[in-house]
Amino acid sequence: MEDLMQKIVSFSKRRGFIFPSSEIYGGFGSCYDFGPLGVELKKNIKKAWWDEMIKKQNDIVGLDASILMNPRVWKASGHLSAGFADELVECKKCHHRFRKDFVNSPAGEKCPDCGGAFTKAKKFNLMMKTSVGPVEDDASIAYLRPETCQGIYVNFKNIMQSMRLKVPFGIAQIGKAFRNEINPKDFIFRTREFEQMEMQWFCEHQKADKFFEYWLKQRLNWYYKLGINKKNLRIYEVPKKELAHYAKRAVDIEYKFPFGWKEIEGIHNRGDWDLSNHAKNSGEDLKYEGYFPHVIETSVGVDRSLFVFLTEAYQEIKGGRSGKTNTEIFLEINRILAPVKVAVLPLVKNKPEIVKKAKEIYRSLKTEFVTLYDQTGSIGRRYRRLDEIGCIFAVTVDFDTLKDNAVTIRDRDTMKQKRIKIKELSQFLNQELK
Ligand code: ATP
Repeated sequence: MEDLMQKIVSFSKRRGFIFPSSEIYGGFGSCYDFGPLGVELKKNIKKAWWDEMIKKQNDIVGLDASILMNPRVWKASGHLSAGFADELVECKKCHHRFRKDFVNSPAGEKCPDCGGAFTKAKKFNLMMKTSVGPVEDDASIAYLRPETCQGIYVNFKNIMQSMRLKVPFGIAQIGKAFRNEINPKDFIFRTREFEQMEMQWFCEHQKADKFFEYWLKQRLNWYYKLGINKKNLRIYEVPKKELAHYAKRAVDIEYKFPFGWKEIEGIHNRGDWDLSNHAKNSGEDLKYEGYFPHVIETSVGVDRSLFVFLTEAYQEIKGGRSGKTNTEIFLEINRILAPVKVAVLPLVKNKPEIVKKAKEIYRSLKTEFVTLYDQTGSIGRRYRRLDEIGCIFAVTVDFDTLKDNAVTIRDRDTMKQKRIKIKELSQFLNQELK
């Protein structure tokens, strides 16, 4: 399975999904850049989530809060205290540092790098510090947010009043978050800079349990709809003793990654802790009809879910899809998520009329769909390259096109080809890709 991980990492780089950040300078501690296809895939995931939360569900509105916030927010939320810290141990021999809960082994706690003994664990706060303004002193210290939801809580009143909302309602947000993770690892699974998609649902206390079940089910369905096999997802009920002090219930949605079952999304019942606590610390009245609404939160990482969708879609097919070639890679990714929807291919590159027509079609389709133009290699080779990135339709311009103004269109999933008039292409694709 680790092998699969390596394959996905190198595939991601080779096909323009994900590159190590600042690679020409030797990279930079677990930071990654999303290349031309990665950025499209990421955008599609965010859109699918936004469409699900804002368009499909009722009574949810959006927010884009600032990454930098008044540090009092983090004092109130507890993020500056020992509560938002991991336990760090250091190897006495090689001085490598680890998150304590990552190095528990049956043989006791030994450094995985050199076998040395560890120092006693100490708390390590995960907040990323920066300084704001031209003077660097204590008063200028600010923090990059470690989660997006605090921006939601502190805007609760603004949003409720400006949108004239009544409980229950939700606020959804997508945005960057930063944690100074001790051991970022497993490619884009755990990084120090990442993006979250979070929704906070405000409801009456008595209805919180019911809504918890509802959101858990909705969120699981979202993955199923987008092509994740049920057998690769499971839920983990976080034991009471491991819950944050304010949490009433927490369930992790876990995916079977190449390195084991791990969380991709958390569903949390946070009680009225956030609103009541911010009310107390800010002095603002954050009540609704005299009470603090309870919060059900759904929280998923964009990058982590992108990793899930890539892993799920990545296939190596022995003998190729035709059964007659070498092993081929096929990215069987959901149509909504596929980073490239259409490719336009001139059958030959040395016939100017065919090339001209193909470029014309390409230029017109790319205004509507993410479209590639490819004229290198045999058609078969080009289809294989397209299957590798999960491109859904390939449009081939051939000699007949010059006479009948029609093209051959190939469907990624069925591999079937059919002839279609150029003037009907856009309508056909719109219908198929909606
Ligand atoms: P862990 O205990 O693994 O550090 P967590 O339980 O603190 O994580 P949450 O605070 O519940 O994580 O974060 C919600 C979601 O945000 C996670 O399910 C994950 O998808 C994403 N996420 C959290 N931390 C990271 C990270 N360092 N890198 C990438 N995604 C992350």
